[in-house]
Amino acid sequence: MKAVVIGSMNMDFTMDVDHLPSKGETVPAVRLRTSPGGKGLNQAVALARLGAEVLMVGAVGNDASGKVLLGNLPKDRIPDFAIKTVDDSTGNAFITVDSQGNNTIVVYPGANYKLDMHWVESFKGEIESADFVVLQMEIPVETVIASIELAHNLNTKVVLNPAPALPLPDYVYTMVDLVIPNETELALLTGETNIVEGARKLLQMGANAVVVTLGSEGCFYKDANQEISVEGFKVNAIDSTAAGDAFIGGLLTALGRHEDIGTAMKFANAVGAITVTRPGAQESIPTYEEVEEFLRRREP
Ligand code: AMP
Repeated sequence: MKAVVIGSMNMDFTMDVDHLPSKGETVPAVRLRTSPGGKGLNQAVALARLGAEVLMVGAVGNDASGKVLLGNLPKDRIPDFAIKTVDDSTGNAFITVDSQGNNTIVVYPGANYKLDMHWVESFKGEIESADFVVLQMEIPVETVIASIELAHNLNTKVVLNPAPALPLPDYVYTMVDLVIPNETELALLTGETNIVEGARKLLQMGANAVVVTLGSEGCFYKDANQEISVEGFKVNAIDSTAAGDAFIGGLLTALGRHEDIGTAMKFANAVGAITVTRPGAQESIPTYEEVEEFLRRREP
């Protein structure tokens, strides 16, 4: 299965603090961790670990963070030729986490906001031969919309993870094969807190199909003909970072293996469940073999 991810790449700086700083306050951090992140890169890594051939189309700055992000790609067999180096800082996220697990996040999008259509169009051939083009909303919205149009016109399936949730004109949804929001994003996009109603609204807006991720509850699918709910796996969750990104990698690789939607949702739930049992972001995303092992143990 071939996937092209057009999206963000960040370096995350996570500081553990005793309490979150209030206005004007300086607090010492007890630990600093740096790790690759950004929804685009997380989803690319998830797809690659779960067996897809992945092209990451993105942008980094000509700085130390950019070099680290590029240097990490070979570990997941992701080529770097579609990653542009631009004259800005690499996207950075500054995260503080207190002893109760509450956090604050400030993101400098930097290079991610310089990912333009001119660059994306130079990978038209790869987009045309891919099974899926996968997009999120951490790059300029014009690039998201034009990339959707390009992939749709090339007959490649378009998958949109509307995160962060920003309104898009309805005509954009008519070109989207699968929208994958979480509950919060669904509510922001549709004004509906009821999952079935929210999914129905996304279909009315033009999307072909919707998968809503529901945290520990699993996930819900809706298209014009059917609705399917698949329960989550019971696990000891310690850190939900990147669970949604890992889930998307799981769902698309399973669909790429021509599994039916219900089986693909179960596989994706397993990927998400494993991810929440491990600390950190990208480092918590499992490989295909780890997911198979998890599923074998759950079903003797
Ligand atoms: P979320 O983005 O929180 O909706 O999570 C994405 C996916 O990860 C969910 O659809 C589940 O498959 C899985 N997941 C998230 N949190 C948990 C949890 N606490 N227990 C089991 N699976 C989870």
